[in-house]
Amino acid sequence: MTSPRILIVEDEITLAEVIRDYLLSNGMEVDILSEGTHAVETALEKAHDLIILDLMLPGVDGLTICRKLRQNSDVPIIMTTAKVEEIDRLLGLEMGADDYVCKPYSPRELVARVRAVLRRRPLGGQPPDKGLDARLHIDQERWRATLDGDDLDLTRREFSLLAALAARPGRVFSRDQLLSLAFPDDTEVFDRTIDSHIRNIRRKIHSKTDWDPIRSVYGVGYAYEG
Ligand code: CA
Repeated sequence: MTSPRILIVEDEITLAEVIRDYLLSNGMEVDILSEGTHAVETALEKAHDLIILDLMLPGVDGLTICRKLRQNSDVPIIMTTAKVEEIDRLLGLEMGADDYVCKPYSPRELVARVRAVLRRRPLGGQPPDKGLDARLHIDQERWRATLDGDDLDLTRREFSLLAALAARPGRVFSRDQLLSLAFPDDTEVFDRTIDSHIRNIRRKIHSKTDWDPIRSVYGVGYAYEG
């Protein structure tokens, strides 16, 4: 099996080099760009398997790079940003990144996120790793979701949403579809509320593991990829 090839676009050189060393020691190949000007061309030419893209960059910023890449490629992108509030804004823009990581992050955490994204979007069209299937258990009768046997402490709405997604793995749902599937009689849930419930579910899952079974789908909505 070939090694995943990762592009790091990051103007903090020391940070980029630390991440590179972690990725190298995890059997990945790594290129670094310290500014944004040629990021899109480099990523498309060299066919990277994943891009770690900083938001604030000299030259062209991460937002513009992400959008341009998405016009031509579905290469997995992990956006990094110095402000946690930026992540909410970026999610709202639905720019199509696969994951968002707030600085300062630990290199180990970032590598775990890289592995998780690669697992969901495997190289060379191989089937995804199904070994994690049984991690999440949805108990419809008790309105309870457990991860590795641990209660996620979801609210009713969070539970309904996760259950609706997990009932049809891999299928992409729009926010409207999720509204009618998960909350048919709940008139206080709206499009944008879906995003905040998803964020809360992810936060609860992330408090226990780096695994993220919910995929944001650019311009559309969400899919469960457990
Ligand atoms: Ca930066």
